[in-house]
Amino acid sequence: MSFKDLQLHKILLRAIAETGYDEPTKVQQQTIPVVLNKKDVIVSAQTGTGKTAAFALPILQLLLDKQDTPKRSKKIRALIVSPTRELASQIGQNFKTYGKHTNLRSTVIFGGTSIEPQKDVLKKGVDILVATPGRLLDLHKQDLLNLDYIETLVLDEADLMLDMGFIDDVKKIERLCPKEKQTLLFSATIPFKVEQLANTILKSPERIQIHATSSATKSVEQLVYYVPKRNKIELCLHLLRNTIKGNILIFRRTKFGVDKLEKTLLKNGYSANSIHGDKSQSERQTALNKFKTGYIKILIATDVAARGIDINELDAVINFDLPNIPETYVHRIGRTGRAGKTGNSYSFCSADEKNYVKSIQQLIGKQIPIEEDHPYPLDPKAKPIIHKSKTPKSKHKKGRKSKNSKKKKKRWY
Ligand code: AMP
Repeated sequence: MSFKDLQLHKILLRAIAETGYDEPTKVQQQTIPVVLNKKDVIVSAQTGTGKTAAFALPILQLLLDKQDTPKRSKKIRALIVSPTRELASQIGQNFKTYGKHTNLRSTVIFGGTSIEPQKDVLKKGVDILVATPGRLLDLHKQDLLNLDYIETLVLDEADLMLDMGFIDDVKKIERLCPKEKQTLLFSATIPFKVEQLANTILKSPERIQIHATSSATKSVEQLVYYVPKRNKIELCLHLLRNTIKGNILIFRRTKFGVDKLEKTLLKNGYSANSIHGDKSQSERQTALNKFKTGYIKILIATDVAARGIDINELDAVINFDLPNIPETYVHRIGRTGRAGKTGNSYSFCSADEKNYVKSIQQLIGKQIPIEEDHPYPLDPKAKPIIHKSKTPKSKHKKGRKSKNSKKKKKRWY
């Protein structure tokens, strides 16, 4: 199938050709006709499938007849709500790329940066608004934007949006838009709470499911390293010295872990940077830009910070900590091996993470090869050491940690 077959307008086709896309991806083939048909839709697809263009292209097309409205009289007709700032700016960039030969105006608003320039752009009039929930509601409260003319509402990465606690904001935003509108919900996974949200705000939606699991993992050479938790840093340094080259994205579960690893890598002479939720917007953007332009080779991130970020040309992903949600593993490694290239993923599994490997293997339907040839093996046959106390503990103290262990333990959150 070609983009022409999707009945897209020639000025959009020109932009697509200039971007270098040969043919629509699966999610685009299935979603674009439904959106052009003005139907509500639930799309289960993860980042990397081309889902942004799957809503951006038909939205631009649906608005083309309004493109010549004078700037000041422009009304916001399409609203895209996105959970993170990085994702919002990426979506905004996509609208600019695909809409470059149109007279449609789009802008992005998000928190963590000055509100004034955003107010100015809004005052000048836009057709398409991409926003994170908090800043959107803030500007609406100040009467600086009007959602009365929304024709299409997109909720992107709905599962992440709910995970991040935006459920009430999302519902509020939906209520601020007109009743008669088209709603598109995109989500990597469709857990019960996303289903519930969809049931309350979508009207007889079509369902599109893109199984990224097999395709995302097919082009990635995966390896798992069983390693004691305390040796993970050494193993990481060992692999960076000897095995893993190029642009590397390292995932850790906690912000604390991300910071700690960044310090160690810097101390060892690596050009690394990190992104997580405690970093300011400009810090995150700077780190991302440095990574994308090749100025730094290693980016360390938490899942939430990295979700949805489009990083191309990635050579390897290291799962320094294994994710407890198997789908997250697929999202993570799906970032390498894109566009016909082969990527590599290296997962570090400590004794307490073995069950995560099991669930991941169940999800992807295959065994991840084990790399045993490394200096810090975790004996897979070794039984966990259980320290039995000689005197039976009182019921009262059961499960409590000793004073010494409490002292040693650092908080992870
Ligand atoms: P997304 O899933 O929207 O984050 O897109 C992932 C990447 O795929 C982005 O770098 C897009 O520019 C790229 N992309 C989107 N559509 C196509 C297409 N039809 N052909 C090739 N690349 C595409």
